Amino acid sequence: MKYNLSGAISEIIPTKTLTDKFIEIKSKVFVVDSNLYELHKELVLQLVGDNPMYLLIATEQNKTLNEAEMIFQFLMLNKVNRSSVIIGIGGGITTDITAYAASVFKRGCRLQLVPTTFLAMIDAGIGGKTGVNFQSIKNAIGTFYPAEKVYINTGFMRTLSKKELRSGWAECIKTALIGKTGLFQTIKQSYPAGTEEIILETIDQKMRICEGDLQDTGFRRKLNMGHTFAHITETATNNELSHGEAVALGISAALELSKRRKMISESEYNKMHLLVEPLLKEIKLLPRYKHQIASRFSEILTHDKKNSNHVNMILFDGFCSTKVVEIEDTDEVRDVLLHGVRN
Ligand code: NAD
Repeated sequence: MKYNLSGAISEIIPTKTLTDKFIEIKSKVFVVDSNLYELHKELVLQLVGDNPMYLLIATEQNKTLNEAEMIFQFLMLNKVNRSSVIIGIGGGITTDITAYAASVFKRGCRLQLVPTTFLAMIDAGIGGKTGVNFQSIKNAIGTFYPAEKVYINTGFMRTLSKKELRSGWAECIKTALIGKTGLFQTIKQSYPAGTEEIILETIDQKMRICEGDLQDTGFRRKLNMGHTFAHITETATNNELSHGEAVALGISAALELSKRRKMISESEYNKMHLLVEPLLKEIKLLPRYKHQIASRFSEILTHDKKNSNHVNMILFDGFCSTKVVEIEDTDEVRDVLLHGVRN
Protein backbone atom coordinates (compact mmCIF):
# COMPACT_ATOMS: atom_id res chain seq x y z
CA MET A 1 0.00 0.00 0.00
CA LYS A 2 1.63 3.25 -1.15
CA TYR A 3 0.49 6.70 -0.04
CA ASN A 4 1.46 10.15 -1.20
CA LEU A 5 1.91 12.48 1.76
CA SER A 6 2.50 15.93 0.27
CA GLY A 7 4.89 14.49 -2.30
CA ALA A 8 6.62 12.01 0.01
CA ILE A 9 5.74 8.41 -0.87
CA SER A 10 5.19 6.28 2.22
CA GLU A 11 4.80 2.57 1.68
CA ILE A 12 3.08 0.38 4.27
CA ILE A 13 4.22 -3.21 3.99
CA PRO A 14 2.39 -5.93 5.92
CA THR A 15 4.77 -8.84 6.37
CA LYS A 16 5.10 -12.14 8.23
CA THR A 17 8.87 -12.08 7.98
CA LEU A 18 11.26 -9.19 8.42
CA THR A 19 14.58 -10.94 8.07
CA ASP A 20 14.98 -10.29 4.34
CA LYS A 21 13.84 -6.66 4.43
CA PHE A 22 17.02 -4.74 5.23
CA ILE A 23 19.69 -6.96 3.67
CA GLU A 24 19.99 -4.97 0.45
CA ILE A 25 20.49 -1.64 2.22
CA LYS A 26 24.23 -0.88 2.21
CA SER A 27 24.47 1.82 4.86
CA LYS A 28 22.04 1.48 7.77
CA VAL A 29 21.76 2.00 11.50
CA PHE A 30 19.08 0.89 13.94
CA VAL A 31 17.34 2.59 16.85
CA VAL A 32 15.67 -0.13 18.92
CA ASP A 33 13.34 0.00 21.93
CA SER A 34 15.29 -1.69 24.75
CA ASN A 35 12.23 -3.55 26.11
CA LEU A 36 11.43 -4.86 22.66
CA TYR A 37 15.06 -5.90 22.30
CA GLU A 38 14.87 -8.01 25.47
CA LEU A 39 11.58 -9.61 24.42
CA HIS A 40 12.50 -10.33 20.78
CA LYS A 41 16.30 -10.49 21.02
CA GLU A 42 16.87 -13.27 18.52
CA LEU A 43 14.87 -11.56 15.78
CA VAL A 44 16.32 -8.10 16.49
CA LEU A 45 19.89 -9.41 16.40
CA GLN A 46 19.14 -11.11 13.10
CA LEU A 47 17.78 -7.86 11.65
CA VAL A 48 20.60 -5.70 12.94
CA GLY A 49 23.46 -8.06 12.07
CA ASP A 50 26.83 -6.24 12.27
CA ASN A 51 25.29 -2.80 11.87
CA PRO A 52 25.29 -0.13 14.58
CA MET A 53 22.37 -0.22 17.02
CA TYR A 54 21.22 2.42 19.53
CA LEU A 55 19.15 0.98 22.37
CA LEU A 56 16.49 3.46 23.47
CA ILE A 57 14.83 3.40 26.88
CA ALA A 58 11.30 4.10 25.69
CA THR A 59 9.67 6.27 28.35
CA GLU A 60 7.88 9.60 28.00
CA GLN A 61 10.52 11.12 30.35
CA ASN A 62 13.15 10.03 27.88
CA LYS A 63 11.37 11.26 24.74
CA THR A 64 13.32 14.51 24.86
CA LEU A 65 15.73 16.73 22.97
CA ASN A 66 18.49 15.37 25.23
CA GLU A 67 17.77 11.85 24.06
CA ALA A 68 17.52 13.03 20.45
CA GLU A 69 20.96 14.59 20.92
CA MET A 70 22.29 11.21 22.10
CA ILE A 71 20.89 9.71 18.91
CA PHE A 72 22.58 12.48 16.85
CA GLN A 73 25.89 11.56 18.52
CA PHE A 74 25.32 7.91 17.62
CA LEU A 75 24.54 8.90 14.01
CA MET A 76 27.65 11.11 13.85
CA LEU A 77 29.88 8.41 15.32
CA ASN A 78 28.64 5.94 12.75
CA LYS A 79 29.13 8.36 9.86
CA VAL A 80 25.49 8.38 8.87
CA ASN A 81 24.85 10.50 5.80
CA ARG A 82 21.77 11.43 3.82
CA SER A 83 21.80 8.22 1.81
CA SER A 84 22.06 6.00 4.90
CA VAL A 85 18.85 4.48 6.20
CA ILE A 86 17.86 4.98 9.83
CA ILE A 87 15.59 2.15 10.96
CA GLY A 88 13.44 2.58 14.07
CA ILE A 89 12.06 -0.54 15.74
CA GLY A 90 9.70 -0.19 18.69
CA GLY A 91 6.53 1.42 20.00
CA GLY A 92 5.29 4.95 19.39
CA ILE A 93 7.94 6.58 21.57
CA THR A 94 10.68 4.94 19.53
CA THR A 95 9.09 5.67 16.15
CA ASP A 96 8.40 9.32 17.15
CA ILE A 97 11.93 10.10 18.36
CA THR A 98 13.71 8.09 15.64
CA ALA A 99 11.65 9.82 12.97
CA TYR A 100 12.36 13.21 14.57
CA ALA A 101 16.11 12.53 14.64
CA ALA A 102 16.04 11.28 11.02
CA SER A 103 14.10 14.34 9.88
CA VAL A 104 16.62 16.88 11.17
CA PHE A 105 19.98 15.08 11.11
CA LYS A 106 21.89 16.43 8.08
CA ARG A 107 18.57 18.08 7.12
CA GLY A 108 16.89 14.72 6.62
CA CYS A 109 18.05 11.12 6.26
CA ARG A 110 16.22 8.12 4.84
CA LEU A 111 13.84 6.59 7.37
CA GLN A 112 12.17 3.19 7.70
CA LEU A 113 10.09 2.05 10.67
CA VAL A 114 9.04 -1.21 12.27
CA PRO A 115 6.28 -0.35 14.77
CA THR A 116 5.99 -3.06 17.39
CA THR A 117 3.00 -2.01 19.50
CA PHE A 118 -0.59 -2.18 18.29
CA LEU A 119 -0.88 1.61 18.70
CA ALA A 120 2.30 2.30 16.77
CA MET A 121 1.20 0.01 13.92
CA ILE A 122 -2.10 1.77 13.37
CA ASP A 123 -1.25 5.28 14.55
CA ALA A 124 2.10 6.52 15.82
CA GLY A 125 4.32 4.78 13.28
CA ILE A 126 2.35 5.92 10.24
CA GLY A 127 1.26 9.29 8.91
CA GLY A 128 4.45 11.28 9.21
CA LYS A 129 4.22 13.07 12.59
CA THR A 130 7.45 13.01 14.58
CA GLY A 131 8.07 14.48 17.99
CA VAL A 132 9.72 14.83 21.34
CA ASN A 133 8.33 16.23 24.58
CA PHE A 134 9.51 19.62 25.83
CA GLN A 135 9.00 21.30 29.22
CA SER A 136 6.38 18.70 30.14
CA ILE A 137 4.35 19.34 26.97
CA LYS A 138 3.88 16.19 24.93
CA ASN A 139 5.22 16.34 21.38
CA ALA A 140 5.89 20.07 21.69
CA ILE A 141 8.76 19.81 19.24
CA GLY A 142 8.47 17.85 16.04
CA THR A 143 8.28 17.71 12.28
CA PHE A 144 6.23 16.11 9.53
CA TYR A 145 8.43 13.44 7.99
CA PRO A 146 6.79 10.29 6.61
CA ALA A 147 8.90 7.12 6.66
CA GLU A 148 9.64 5.76 3.19
CA LYS A 149 8.68 2.26 4.37
CA VAL A 150 6.76 1.02 7.39
CA TYR A 151 6.74 -2.73 8.01
CA ILE A 152 3.71 -4.13 9.80
CA ASN A 153 4.44 -7.44 11.49
CA THR A 154 1.66 -8.37 13.89
CA GLY A 155 3.85 -11.13 15.39
CA PHE A 156 5.22 -8.50 17.80
CA MET A 157 1.79 -8.18 19.37
CA ARG A 158 2.03 -11.50 21.21
CA THR A 159 4.16 -9.88 23.93
CA LEU A 160 1.92 -6.85 24.50
CA SER A 161 -0.02 -6.43 27.75
CA LYS A 162 -3.83 -6.15 27.79
CA LYS A 163 -3.45 -2.42 28.50
CA GLU A 164 -1.29 -1.96 25.40
CA LEU A 165 -3.76 -3.93 23.30
CA ARG A 166 -6.62 -1.76 24.55
CA SER A 167 -4.69 1.33 23.39
CA GLY A 168 -4.61 -0.03 19.86
CA TRP A 169 -8.26 -1.05 19.91
CA ALA A 170 -9.39 2.36 21.09
CA GLU A 171 -7.65 4.06 18.16
CA CYS A 172 -9.04 1.51 15.66
CA ILE A 173 -12.57 2.13 16.93
CA LYS A 174 -12.02 5.89 16.83
CA THR A 175 -10.83 5.63 13.23
CA ALA A 176 -13.87 3.55 12.29
CA LEU A 177 -16.22 6.16 13.76
CA ILE A 178 -14.81 9.18 11.92
CA GLY A 179 -15.42 8.09 8.34
CA LYS A 180 -17.97 6.26 6.30
CA THR A 181 -15.81 3.31 5.24
CA GLY A 182 -16.02 -0.46 5.59
CA LEU A 183 -13.95 -0.35 8.79
CA PHE A 184 -17.05 0.13 10.95
CA GLN A 185 -18.58 -3.11 9.65
CA THR A 186 -15.28 -4.98 9.82
CA ILE A 187 -14.86 -4.14 13.51
CA LYS A 188 -18.51 -4.81 14.24
CA GLN A 189 -18.32 -8.24 12.67
CA SER A 190 -14.86 -9.40 13.63
CA TYR A 191 -13.73 -7.66 16.84
CA PRO A 192 -11.47 -8.92 18.33
CA ALA A 193 -10.70 -12.02 16.26
CA GLY A 194 -10.04 -10.31 12.95
CA THR A 195 -7.17 -8.22 14.26
CA GLU A 196 -5.04 -8.47 11.13
CA GLU A 197 -7.78 -7.30 8.78
CA ILE A 198 -8.84 -4.54 11.18
CA ILE A 199 -5.24 -3.28 11.46
CA LEU A 200 -4.81 -3.04 7.70
CA GLU A 201 -8.13 -1.27 7.18
CA THR A 202 -7.40 1.14 10.04
CA ILE A 203 -3.99 1.98 8.57
CA ASP A 204 -5.57 2.53 5.16
CA GLN A 205 -8.19 4.87 6.55
CA LYS A 206 -5.72 6.88 8.62
CA MET A 207 -3.30 7.17 5.68
CA ARG A 208 -6.05 8.37 3.35
CA ILE A 209 -6.90 11.10 5.85
CA CYS A 210 -3.22 12.08 6.14
CA GLU A 211 -2.81 12.12 2.37
CA GLY A 212 -5.23 15.01 2.17
CA ASP A 213 -3.84 16.93 5.14
CA LEU A 214 -0.33 15.89 6.18
CA GLN A 215 0.26 19.03 8.22
CA ASP A 216 -2.88 18.71 10.32
CA THR A 217 -4.44 22.03 9.36
CA GLY A 218 -7.86 20.73 8.33
CA PHE A 219 -9.72 17.49 8.34
CA ARG A 220 -6.86 15.41 9.81
CA ARG A 221 -7.98 17.00 13.08
CA LYS A 222 -10.88 14.59 13.22
CA LEU A 223 -8.35 11.95 14.24
CA ASN A 224 -8.43 13.76 17.61
CA MET A 225 -12.01 12.70 18.25
CA GLY A 226 -12.35 11.70 21.93
CA HIS A 227 -8.88 13.04 22.72
CA THR A 228 -9.83 16.24 24.60
CA PHE A 229 -11.87 14.12 27.01
CA ALA A 230 -9.06 11.56 27.09
CA HIS A 231 -6.48 14.21 27.93
CA ILE A 232 -8.56 15.40 30.91
CA THR A 233 -9.04 11.84 32.21
CA GLU A 234 -5.42 10.83 31.73
CA THR A 235 -4.07 13.97 33.37
CA ALA A 236 -6.58 13.95 36.26
CA THR A 237 -5.83 10.31 37.07
CA ASN A 238 -2.07 10.85 36.77
CA ASN A 239 -2.00 8.38 33.88
CA GLU A 240 -3.42 5.55 36.01
CA LEU A 241 -5.89 5.20 33.18
CA SER A 242 -3.80 4.55 30.11
CA HIS A 243 -4.09 6.66 26.95
CA GLY A 244 -6.10 3.96 25.18
CA GLU A 245 -8.48 3.50 28.09
CA ALA A 246 -8.95 7.25 28.29
CA VAL A 247 -9.60 7.42 24.52
CA ALA A 248 -12.28 4.70 24.78
CA LEU A 249 -14.01 6.71 27.53
CA GLY A 250 -13.46 9.86 25.44
CA ILE A 251 -15.23 8.31 22.45
CA SER A 252 -18.21 7.45 24.62
CA ALA A 253 -18.23 11.00 26.01
CA ALA A 254 -18.03 12.58 22.53
CA LEU A 255 -21.02 10.50 21.42
CA GLU A 256 -22.99 11.44 24.52
CA LEU A 257 -22.25 15.16 24.16
CA SER A 258 -23.23 15.04 20.46
CA LYS A 259 -26.51 13.38 21.44
CA ARG A 260 -27.22 15.90 24.21
CA ARG A 261 -26.60 18.72 21.75
CA LYS A 262 -29.03 17.02 19.33
CA MET A 263 -26.33 16.74 16.70
CA ILE A 264 -27.07 13.01 16.37
CA SER A 265 -30.24 11.03 16.99
CA GLU A 266 -30.72 8.41 19.68
CA SER A 267 -30.50 5.66 17.08
CA GLU A 268 -27.28 7.05 15.54
CA TYR A 269 -25.85 7.25 19.06
CA ASN A 270 -26.82 3.66 19.82
CA LYS A 271 -25.46 2.33 16.55
CA MET A 272 -22.10 4.04 17.00
CA HIS A 273 -21.82 3.45 20.74
CA LEU A 274 -22.22 -0.28 20.18
CA LEU A 275 -18.77 -0.35 18.58
CA VAL A 276 -16.97 0.91 21.69
CA GLU A 277 -19.01 -1.03 24.27
CA PRO A 278 -16.99 -4.29 24.30
CA LEU A 279 -13.85 -2.24 25.03
CA LEU A 280 -15.58 -0.06 27.64
CA LYS A 281 -16.61 -3.20 29.54
CA GLU A 282 -12.93 -3.86 30.24
CA ILE A 283 -12.33 -0.38 31.67
CA LYS A 284 -13.33 0.65 35.14
CA LEU A 285 -14.00 4.33 35.72
CA LEU A 286 -13.60 3.93 39.49
CA PRO A 287 -15.28 6.42 41.87
CA ARG A 288 -11.76 7.51 42.85
CA TYR A 289 -11.06 8.50 39.22
CA LYS A 290 -14.34 10.44 39.07
CA HIS A 291 -13.30 12.41 42.19
CA GLN A 292 -9.95 13.20 40.59
CA ILE A 293 -11.64 14.33 37.35
CA ALA A 294 -14.12 16.50 39.28
CA SER A 295 -11.46 18.19 41.35
CA ARG A 296 -8.91 18.82 38.57
CA PHE A 297 -11.27 19.44 35.64
CA SER A 298 -11.19 23.28 35.65
CA GLU A 299 -7.44 23.51 36.14
CA ILE A 300 -6.78 21.13 33.21
CA LEU A 301 -9.26 22.78 30.86
CA THR A 302 -8.09 26.30 31.74
CA HIS A 303 -4.61 25.21 30.75
CA ASP A 304 -5.95 23.70 27.48
CA LYS A 305 -7.96 26.78 26.58
CA LYS A 306 -4.76 28.84 26.76
CA ASN A 307 -5.73 32.37 25.70
CA SER A 308 -9.11 31.65 24.14
CA ASN A 309 -12.45 31.35 25.91
CA HIS A 310 -13.40 28.06 24.34
CA VAL A 311 -12.15 24.55 23.62
CA ASN A 312 -12.43 22.94 20.21
CA MET A 313 -13.90 19.46 20.31
CA ILE A 314 -14.56 16.93 17.59
CA LEU A 315 -18.20 15.89 17.92
CA PHE A 316 -20.58 13.91 15.69
CA ASP A 317 -23.09 15.53 13.35
CA GLY A 318 -24.32 12.29 11.81
CA PHE A 319 -23.50 8.61 11.53
CA CYS A 320 -19.67 8.38 11.34
CA SER A 321 -19.55 12.06 10.45
CA THR A 322 -17.70 14.61 12.59
CA LYS A 323 -17.52 18.34 13.04
CA VAL A 324 -15.26 20.70 15.01
CA VAL A 325 -17.33 22.45 17.66
CA GLU A 326 -16.25 25.43 19.79
CA ILE A 327 -17.37 24.84 23.35
CA GLU A 328 -17.55 27.71 25.80
CA ASP A 329 -19.72 26.20 28.51
CA THR A 330 -17.35 23.60 29.87
CA ASP A 331 -19.83 22.53 32.58
CA GLU A 332 -21.52 20.33 30.00
CA VAL A 333 -18.17 18.71 29.21
CA ARG A 334 -17.61 18.00 32.90
CA ASP A 335 -21.11 16.61 33.32
CA VAL A 336 -20.74 14.28 30.35
CA LEU A 337 -17.43 12.95 31.65
CA LEU A 338 -18.72 12.38 35.16
CA HIS A 339 -22.23 11.16 34.43
CA GLY A 340 -22.62 10.51 30.71
CA VAL A 341 -20.11 7.77 29.94
CA ARG A 342 -21.83 4.40 29.69
CA ASN A 343 -19.49 1.72 31.00
P1 NAD B 1 5.51 3.06 23.83
O1 NAD B 1 6.42 3.31 22.72
O2 NAD B 1 5.82 3.63 25.17
O3 NAD B 1 5.34 1.49 24.00
C1 NAD B 1 4.63 1.01 25.11
C2 NAD B 1 5.47 0.01 25.92
O4 NAD B 1 5.55 -1.20 25.18
C3 NAD B 1 6.92 0.45 26.13
O5 NAD B 1 7.29 0.06 27.41
C4 NAD B 1 7.69 -0.34 25.08
O6 NAD B 1 9.03 -0.55 25.47
C5 NAD B 1 6.91 -1.61 25.02
N1 NAD B 1 6.93 -2.40 23.80
C6 NAD B 1 7.14 -2.01 22.51
N2 NAD B 1 6.90 -3.04 21.68
C7 NAD B 1 6.55 -4.09 22.45
C8 NAD B 1 6.18 -5.44 22.17
N3 NAD B 1 6.08 -5.89 20.93
N4 NAD B 1 5.88 -6.25 23.21
C9 NAD B 1 5.93 -5.78 24.48
N5 NAD B 1 6.26 -4.53 24.82
C10 NAD B 1 6.57 -3.70 23.79
O7 NAD B 1 4.01 3.54 23.56
P2 NAD B 1 2.99 3.38 22.36
O8 NAD B 1 1.69 3.18 23.03
O9 NAD B 1 3.46 2.44 21.32
O10 NAD B 1 3.03 4.86 21.75
C11 NAD B 1 2.76 5.99 22.54
C12 NAD B 1 3.58 7.14 22.01
O11 NAD B 1 3.20 7.35 20.65
C13 NAD B 1 3.36 8.44 22.73
O12 NAD B 1 4.60 9.04 22.99
C14 NAD B 1 2.54 9.29 21.76
O13 NAD B 1 2.81 10.66 21.88
C15 NAD B 1 3.00 8.75 20.44
N6 NAD B 1 2.03 8.89 19.36
C16 NAD B 1 2.43 9.45 18.20
C17 NAD B 1 1.55 9.58 17.15
C18 NAD B 1 2.03 10.15 15.85
O14 NAD B 1 1.20 10.39 14.95
N7 NAD B 1 3.30 10.35 15.68
C19 NAD B 1 0.23 9.13 17.28
C20 NAD B 1 -0.16 8.55 18.47
C21 NAD B 1 0.75 8.43 19.52
